Amino acid sequence: MSDKPEKFIDENGLRLDGRRVDEIRPMKMEIGVLSRADGSCYLEWGKNKVLAAVYGPRELHPRRLQKADSALIRYRYNMAAFSVEDRIRPGPSRRSIEISKVSREAFEPVVLTHLYPGAVIDVFAEVLQADAGTRTAAINAASMALADAGIPMKGLVSACAAGKVDGQMILDLDKAEDNFGDADIPMAITSEGEITLLQMDGDITQEEFKKAIEMCKEGCRQILELQKETLKNKFAKLDEVEIPDEEEDVSALVESTLEPSEEEEESDIPKIEDAEEDIIDDDEIDDKSEDEESDYEDVEIVEGESSFEDVDEAESPEDEEEETA
Ligand code: ADP
Repeated sequence: MSDKPEKFIDENGLRLDGRRVDEIRPMKMEIGVLSRADGSCYLEWGKNKVLAAVYGPRELHPRRLQKADSALIRYRYNMAAFSVEDRIRPGPSRRSIEISKVSREAFEPVVLTHLYPGAVIDVFAEVLQADAGTRTAAINAASMALADAGIPMKGLVSACAAGKVDGQMILDLDKAEDNFGDADIPMAITSEGEITLLQMDGDITQEEFKKAIEMCKEGCRQILELQKETLKNKFAKLDEVEIPDEEEDVSALVESTLEPSEEEEESDIPKIEDAEEDIIDDDEIDDKSEDEESDYEDVEIVEGESSFEDVDEAESPEDEEEETA
């Protein structure tokens, strides 16, 4: 790991990579990149590279996990072994389980799960290259993959982090700022302005916390614009696709979308339940992952206001299974 820089912000108010304190890293995204997923998105944000894939809604097996009145969302955040300088040991770690949990919760208020009782919507977020802010990058990509899959949602979810370096609040920390900075506060915000993920690592004052929220809101607003633009571009292209005139051709199209092909039925599309089975088996968790235990605290959100107190302890995977049974 490189050494701590002497200063993160120069006399002109610019950061080491030339950004202003309230500027996010350049972001680009593309949807529909995986032909076997129902929805997908590849996203680059600074040096972060993330791929999100969505499968479903589809019937949830085993059936004991089904919810009678809504679909279950499963979210798996995973860092590729080659995504950081040191190889990451494959398989779930405490950090990735925590990120998967809070990210799933970031989507639960917006996805119209009640439309699909007994179903599951699987979201896979794969970090291919990491440079801080990967949980937020993954949420941005997952939001697009869900939209690409046509999952009904109240709106999109956008995410970014604010933090503190050299005594100043900054938006969208890169790796050095995250490693050596004083605080990191990732957030996810719906297009209606509701905060659905709020974590904090480090010490800041209440004033700084308010500033962090304002900065993240503005960052998420910019990300939302890009997300909407990306979706509009896709649907503009779809408008150009010729729809067959003849009735029988159209019915064939409808049938083909409803009937899973043999190939699909037998597909070896990865299932999160396999991963979750891994997750609930504590022995499977890399011992080394103890060291990776997250420093983040969930922050309680009360009617738009946030307190510094801890809220619900991370549910144990066993609880989660009971809940969904
Ligand atoms: P986020 O990526 O959401 O900011 P963290 O704050 O936990 O999450 O991690 C910050 C950065 O530290 C990551 O983006 C990644 O570059 C690096 N990192 C995280 N976990 C590991 C790990 N196990 N090994 C090496 N680098 C890691």
